[in-house]
Formats: sequence, structure tokens, C-alpha cells
Amino acid sequence: MTNLPPADHGVPTADDHGGVDGRLPQGGDEADSDREVQYDVVTTPVLVIGAGAAGARVSIELAESGLEPLVIGKRDYGDAHTTWAAGGINAALGSLDPDDDWPIHAADTLNEGHHLNDPEAVELTARHMPDRIRELDEWGVSFARTDDGKINQRYFGAQSYRRTCFVGDRTGEAMLETLIDRAQALEIPYRENVMITRLLSDGSRVDGAVGFDMETGEGLLFRTNHVVLAAGGFSAAYHRHSSRDDENNGDAQALALEAGARLLDTEFVQFHPTGMVGERYGEEWDGRLVTEAVRGEGGRLYNADGERFMERYSPDQMELDARDVVARAIAQEVREGRGTENDGVYLDISHRDPEYIRERLPTMVDRFAELGVEITDEPMEVGPTAHYTMGGVDIDFQTGETGVDGLYAVGEAVAGVHGANRLGGNSLAETVAIGKLVGEHVSEQVAADDHDPTITDGQRALAEREFAALAELAASDGDVTPETLLEELGDLLWTHAGILRDEAGLHDGLDRLEALRARTADLRVDGDRTSRSFEYAVDLSVSLTVAEVLLRTALERTESRGAHYRADYPETEPDWRQNLVVAADAGGLSIKRRGVAEPSEPVREALEEGYELDYHHLE
Ligand SMILES: Cc1cc2nc3c(=O)[nH]c(=O)nc-3n(C[C@H](O)[C@H](O)[C@H](O)COP(=O)(O)OP(=O)(O)OC[C@H]3O[C@@H](n4cnc5c(N)ncnc54)[C@H](O)[C@@H]3O)c2cc1C
Repeated sequence: MTNLPPADHGVPTADDHGGVDGRLPQGGDEADSDREVQYDVVTTPVLVIGAGAAGARVSIELAESGLEPLVIGKRDYGDAHTTWAAGGINAALGSLDPDDDWPIHAADTLNEGHHLNDPEAVELTARHMPDRIRELDEWGVSFARTDDGKINQRYFGAQSYRRTCFVGDRTGEAMLETLIDRAQALEIPYRENVMITRLLSDGSRVDGAVGFDMETGEGLLFRTNHVVLAAGGFSAAYHRHSSRDDENNGDAQALALEAGARLLDTEFVQFHPTGMVGERYGEEWDGRLVTEAVRGEGGRLYNADGERFMERYSPDQMELDARDVVARAIAQEVREGRGTENDGVYLDISHRDPEYIRERLPTMVDRFAELGVEITDEPMEVGPTAHYTMGGVDIDFQTGETGVDGLYAVGEAVAGVHGANRLGGNSLAETVAIGKLVGEHVSEQVAADDHDPTITDGQRALAEREFAALAELAASDGDVTPETLLEELGDLLWTHAGILRDEAGLHDGLDRLEALRARTADLRVDGDRTSRSFEYAVDLSVSLTVAEVLLRTALERTESRGAHYRADYPETEPDWRQNLVVAADAGGLSIKRRGVAEPSEPVREALEEGYELDYHHLE
């Protein structure tokens, strides 16, 4: 846990219940009730932090190779952010467009990522996806079919062919249900409602993790030689976001950075063009995603003057141009006074057959109907929303290794596949394509390791410092609630590191961040370690870390590329085809540039071929 008041180092010791490998510890906590810090110890050959699609796919691979990993998540089993993924998952199956192939999928991904992606990561994802989709299909995901029984595929923004496989508009939920069924069939141990706040690390190797049970408040020390971080991204740090409020706060990135790993590409935040407009539909809906599938199925964008404005910004690809292009176009329309009174625009699919809309977009139809809007007859009011963080932990994509021994990462937690902007449908793809590879590699590492669960004095001392810090945090009785500071932080990021950025704004953002950080000394947590208030306080700590990294890297990148638009540097500079790598050391954050590798021959050929969607196929 970072950014919070320093721990009291003279904290009492704890009981060690020595949990059985991969199983939950037996029995209750026998620690003295008047001790400040009590905790249980759980040992396991592999700890997977995160039970979304990425964590689930890694753990299935581990279990299939005979291991018994322990999977933990901070919500109930099956209830991860992945369930909100709607529109679909990419694989060059060629069901409808037989010319499609993995190098074209890779080329589309690199073009959308403005060639900042790690070509190996992209190629591994694109090459493995057809097999991963067939596997998910076999395992039971009920993908939509064509009349002749093939897996159906829809258009998605900036893709040359129909490549996005889908289950209506609930693809992520359907996928996670199937992965969880499979994990349960393999009897993979799982622990729900556990929040990890620190990795046990000396900076060069990780020996476990520390956290607490969110239902009982009990401290937990997980002792293992192998930790897989699959804890998601950080888009919820923004005030207006499409992800679940209580996830995607930046846990994975803050934990990894603090443990000695590097972060990459953190300045690149994807603003999805079509979030619901809170002023129109209610604050609880603000920023919630209107799936790209609406545009994929032919949805059109209009400004308040009734103009189909994408004709001016992207006459060929229209509404299906890249997300950054469409999001900036909407921001521009609003700024120039052609938006709705709520600073939105209209998204209309009512020209299509109502039955077709109901079949392809059932969740959207139902959600808007509950709000009194029949999308088969009338438009939706939408505007950009923070949706996905391309940045994350810097890994080797064949192995998931982070450069810190024993620590691996995967899924939205990491950076590399998406470069400066993510192609819709590629995130779910990455979770399973790379998840399987990471699972394979970690199994080999565990097999080569004589797992010794002994806890050294140093590890115990580190854990107890963290438990003390958590106890101290829970006892905070100042004047300002974590919810208040989280809201202010979200506003700060939206204002200073939003769709349009510049040097002065980013500097102001960093100044405001310092002031906000100082106010954490006056925090008031309302309730114990099982309270929402305490969880928000921990969220605040990680979000402050990623916010600083984001602002600093956005300031460092003096060009515009993909999702990062600098109004003071509006051009894309060839010399800036470099990643920004962030590390934390005693001197604070360091930011270094790193060159990007070149793609392989087949992908170069696909790039030279210049494939591009002709939007008018859709009409
Ligand atoms: C509204 C919406 C729609 C989307 N639609 C699509 C789509 O159509 N196609 C597509 O490809 N992508 C889509 N995405 C993106 C995609 O959903 C995510 O990128 C993907 O699901 C990430 O999966 P993951 O397993 O990496 O992480 P997550 O699903 O976010 O899982 C993270 C896990 O980590 C756990 N966790 C987090 N922090 C901690 C902690 N401190 N301690 C313990 N556990 C922790 C969580 O409880 C959870 O189990 C969409 C995203 C949103 C928001």
C-alpha cells in the first residue's frame, strides 16, 4: 500500500495457521483479541491475484498441468469486471470474410496502436486467437452462429474485416461463466472478497502477498514463490468511466511498481466515444458504456444540428473509425457548440429493423427501455468516457515475467498489445491468448522449483509493517473521507489528463495531486476493515500512485499519438515511436524511453497491403 501514513514499526506479531498448500487455512484466528494486528498465513504453489478472464485462463492452464493454484479476487467468484465486456472478442476466423487472417488482425492492431505496440505481443495474440475461440466454443461459450452454423463475426471499429465473435452484447459475461465452470470442474481453489494491498518483495524477488479478508477484516499473508497479477487496469481512477466503480482502480500497477516491476505506456488512456450521458439518464449511469456493437451494427452519430458529423472527420470509416478519432470528433463538436444541451451527441440505430436490433443488442435495448428510451425508435444521448488503460505492467509476453523473480502479470494489468490505442475486441482476446501462455510458463517454473513455504523473519516483518499500516489506516479519524478525495482525484484526471492535454494543464494536475495527497493525512475512515470506507481508502492509495505516473508520462510525451492528444504538440513525431518505461526507486519515479521492435515479415506484408474497412459495406 502506497501513499498513506507511514506504518508503526513496533507492531505485535501474529499467529501462523500454516494453511495447506493451495487450500484455505483451517480453523479460526487465535490471536490475542487486544493485539492490533492479527493474521492468517496461507501457503500455495501459485497465487493468482484476479479472477477475471485473465486470472481464470491462467489458473485453468496451471490446473491442467497438475498444479493447484489459489485464485483470489476482491469480489464474489464469477463477479469480475470482465462481466461488463459486451461487444465481442477478436479472432481471424474468416467465418464471413474468408480473406481475413492473423497477420491482418495483427496489422489492424498495430495501426490502431499507432505502432507503439510490442509486435511480439500483438502477433502472439492474433496468431493464437482462432484456437482460443474454438476452445472457448468447445468449453461451452454460446457464440452467435451464422445460418450455416459457423461462429458469427461482426464489424468492430477500425478492423478490416468482420472479426469480432460475440454472444449478443454480453460476451464477457458469457465467457467468464464458461471459464469459471471450467475452473470449478478442475476444482481450482478460490478465495472470494480478499483484497491484496502489498506484494512481499525485496525489489528483486516476490515471495508472496499481503492483504485482508473484506468480510471479516482479518489480515492474510499468502506465502508463495509465484504470484500472477491479473488485477485489471485503472480507468476507474477517472471521474467519468465505463468500468465498475469498485474495480480498475490501479491495484495491479501500484502493487507491481512498489514491488520493483516497471510500468509502460501509462499515458495512453482510451476514451470510448459512446458513454451514457449522466445529465440525461441519471448520475448512476454517467459514463456507462453504449457498446461499440451499436456502431458495428450500423449506428450513426448526429450532432444537435442533425448533421452526421463523422462525414467531416472520417468520410471512409465514418462511425467505425478508431475510438480516439471518434471520441475527439465528439469532443470537438461539443466544444464548437454543436453538442446537445448536456454536452453529448446522438447515437441512432433506429433505421435498422427492430427485430434485428433486439437480437443483436438485447442488453442495450433493455437498459434504455428501463430508462424510457426505445432505441428501436429513437436515438441515445452519448459522450466520451474513460474506458481502458493501454498502459500497465511491463512484461515479457511469452512468459508473463516482469523482471522481478516470481512475479508475473497478464490481462488488462499489463501493457504492450494495444500500444497507443486499443482495437475493440482485443482485450478479451489478450486475456485468453496470453493467459494460456503465461499459465504454461508458470507451470514449468513451479515444476522446477522445490517449493519451500518457510516464512523468513524478513518476510514476516514486511508483512507485519503492512498489517500495521492497514490498522492505522482503519483508525484514521480526520475530517475528509476517502470517497471525497477519490471523487476529487477523478475530476482532476478528467480535467488535466483527459481527451485534450497540454503542458500547463498537466503541471497544474501534478500540483493539485500533491495538494490532494497532503490531505490524506487528515483522512477519516468510517468503519472497520470490512467497511466500504476502508476499501475506498485503499483504492485511494493505489489511484494516487497511478495518477502520478499517468500525469508524469503524459507530460513527458511531447507529441500526439493515438489516445494521447497534446493540444500543444498536435503532431505525431516519428522520433517518438518509443515507449515510456516507469520505475520507482528511492529517488522517486524514473521515466526512460525505449525503442519499439519491428513486426515479423508476414505482418509487415499485411501492413504494406494497406487493408482498411470500407464503412460503406455496411450500408
Ligand atoms: C463496459 C466495458 C465493456 C467492454 N467490452 C469489451 C469488449 O466487448 N471486448 C473486449 O475485448 N474488451 C472489452 N472491455 C475490456 C475488458 O472487459 C477488460 O479489459 C477485461 O475484461 C479485463 O480482464 P482482466 O481479467 O484482465 O481483469 P478484470 O476482469 O478487471 O479482473 C480483475 C480481477 O482482479 C481482482 N482484483 C483487483 N484488484 C485486486 C486486489 N487488490 N486484490 C485482489 N483482487 C483484486 C478483481 O476482483 C477481479 O477479479 C470492456 C470493458 C468495459 C468497462
